[in-house]
Parts: sequence; structure tokens; C-alpha cells
Amino acid sequence: MVKSVLVKLANLLGETGLYRFLCPERLPVFMLHRVMEGKSDLAGALPADTLRSYLDYLASRDYHVLSMDDLWRVLDEGDEIPSKSVMFTIDDGFYDHHDVAASVFDEFRFPLNFFVITGLLDRELWPWDDQITYALHHTGIRHADIRLPSGEMYSVNLSADTVRQKAREVRNALKSEHQEHIYDWLRTELYKKLGVEFPTDIPPEYRPMSWDEARSLRARGHGVYPHTCSHRILATLSTQEKHHEINESLRRTKSELGYLPDVFAYPTGRLSDYDSVDIEELKKAGFKMAFNTVSDYVRRGQDHYELARFSLPGNTDKFLQIVNRFEALNDWRTHHSPLPVSSFPSR
Ligand SMILES: [Zn+2]
Repeated sequence: MVKSVLVKLANLLGETGLYRFLCPERLPVFMLHRVMEGKSDLAGALPADTLRSYLDYLASRDYHVLSMDDLWRVLDEGDEIPSKSVMFTIDDGFYDHHDVAASVFDEFRFPLNFFVITGLLDRELWPWDDQITYALHHTGIRHADIRLPSGEMYSVNLSADTVRQKAREVRNALKSEHQEHIYDWLRTELYKKLGVEFPTDIPPEYRPMSWDEARSLRARGHGVYPHTCSHRILATLSTQEKHHEINESLRRTKSELGYLPDVFAYPTGRLSDYDSVDIEELKKAGFKMAFNTVSDYVRRGQDHYELARFSLPGNTDKFLQIVNRFEALNDWRTHHSPLPVSSFPSR
């Protein structure tokens, strides 16, 4: 209760621009995932009306929503980061990204940047992480011992946790495994052990947007960029596979969209999910910028291949804390503040 009052007070103060003044040269870049109109069964999906309310806040207070070109001018040409500015990205290329998210951004004439898994838009696959969630949702089995690709045994006990928690756990276990053959492994091990029939077509909730729709996004002023072919975690792949994921996804987007994309986003995007070999591959392929998913602001003068992004919060107070640079005060406090840290509401 006290905390929520303090957060509200902190956000009111944020509206005055105080934190933006104290912590300049920081740009919040947000990452969206799924966006749904009305009620949705899809766990973790952001309601379109919540997104609308965020964009309405930005529009009514004259915020700049930057495009990828604006960001490039900040990073490469030293343009100032406008005090009231934000940027938005959305990963993977599902149908709702075109049907819902883009429509909401169009209502405000704000640009949104799409990172698409080319194998998904080509309808060759749907993401391995979603295949795990699907299997756990459809299994009738409460307990199974599965053999991870490394040979290690992993126990899935569904009676102990919710499907969502369990899916996160299995995904995390697989993030540190070699992912070369993850799609085969899902069919031959996970689906088999859980007694789930592998769908013959992409399940409706995981269907992609079409390449035609991706082209229409570009025509409407949005950005579309590659996010690998298969969404496998680059750090776990061989040099040859890394090369393929980066260059083939570039080739597919270029041939479908008719331009040469030069921005990339790492699948799952934690610092441990990509490495220096990947960054070198990106440079060789001609990419100028790449995004991870580390929760932080982008700063002027920083490395162009490790641009941070905040996951777009489902909660307005949290969104405003990031937008108005309240989050950046943590850094500022360490360097400037004579006040004890406890004088500020905790995050
Ligand atoms: Zn992704």
C-alpha cells in the first residue's frame, strides 16, 4: 500500500521531467511479444487497450517515438537523444503483430520495429519455445523423465507447478543445451514422452503474419528486420550454423521485402545467448545494429551490437517509471546521491 503510493508519487514527479533531466542520454527501447484484442487465453499477452493507453499517454504529452533511422543517427552521428523519447520493437512475427499491434501503432502514427523469424513466416516451423508450452498444455501426463539433448535426465512434474511455470523451467533448461537438433528433439523426445501428437500444421495461436503483411508494414512506415531463421539460441550453435542463421534470415528478408535490412535481434537475447563470434558474423553480413533483451536503457556512444531493451510491462506504473527514466536513477543514485538508497521507493 505504502509502496504503491510512493510509486505513484515517484511517477508524478517523473512527469515533471526531473529524472529525465538528472539522467539524460538514455533511450528506453521496449520489446513487445504478443498483443491481443479482448480477452485472450494466450499466457502473457498484452491487452491491446493497455497498449493503446500507453501510446495515448505518449501522444498526449508530445513524446517522440523514434524510428530505427532516428536511433542510428543517435548512435552513429551523435544526434542528441530527445528528452521525451521512446522506441518500440516486437519479436518473432506472429499474426497478431500485424493484425493487432501494428493497427494500434497506426492509430497514433507511431513506428513499430518488427523482428521476424524467417522460418516462421515461411511456415517451415514455429518457435521451439512455443512448442514446449504447447506440449505442456496438451499433455495428460503428470510426470515424465525426459532425456535432454546433452543426455542428462530432466524430470517434468506437472502436478507440482502451473503449466506456465513449468514451461519456463523447461525452456530455461534447454537454453543451456546445444540447440543444433532442438526441433527433432522436441518431436522425438518431449512430445513422445508427454504423449502429445505433434501438430501437422502450425497451431492457430502460433501462426505467423504473411510476407505480404510484412511488406505492408514497411509501406506504412514500420521497420521489418530478421530474427534468425529458426529462433535457436546462437551461442549454442556451431560456427557454420550461426553463419547460416544470420545470413539465410538476411537473404530471406531481403528477397521478400526488396531491401537490405541492417538491424538484427538475438533470439531470447540474454548476454549468455550470443557471443563475439555472432557479433563478428553480423558485422561481416553488413548489419549495423543488434538488440539483446537485457533490461536497460540504450545510451549514446554505446556498442551498436548490444542494444538493450525493456520488456514492455503490463502495468502502467512500471511503464511510466521506465519512460520517465526513473529506472535510470538507480545508476544516478550510486554516483551522485547523498541520500540513503531507502529514501526512494524500491523497484
Ligand atoms: Zn524471439
